[in-house]
Amino acid sequence: MFDYLIIGSGFAGSVMAERLASQFNKKVLVVEKIICLPKIICEVENYLESKK
Ligand SMILES: Cc1cc2nc3c(=O)[nH]c(=O)nc-3n(C[C@H](O)[C@H](O)[C@H](O)COP(=O)(O)OP(=O)(O)OC[C@H]3O[C@@H](n4cnc5c(N)ncnc54)[C@H](O)[C@@H]3O)c2cc1C
Repeated sequence: MFDYLIIGSGFAGSVMAERLASQFNKKVLVVEKIICLPKIICEVENYLESKK
């Protein structure tokens, strides 16, 4: 059982999850739709691909 469900492990979701877990001792489930992690690598790859 989880205390919080966070949709998306972007910057906001990741920071919220870390704060809730480490500072408030809450159980957090993070759901991310993109398989490739870290996301910034996907974004850079997509950006470079779009410039070809
Ligand atoms: C190429 C690129 C370079 C950038 N460089 C910089 C920089 O140098 N400095 C800077 O300050 N900002 C930069 N940005 C902007 C920065 O990435 C965004 O401002 C920041 O990521 C926003 O954070 P966020 O948590 O609001 O959203 P996001 O980081 O977009 O996180 C949202 C997450 O939710 C997930 N999601 C969405 N819908 C669902 C769903 N239905 N189910 C599950 N998961 C879902 C997404 O996959 C994503 O991982 C850059 C952006 C890009 C594209």
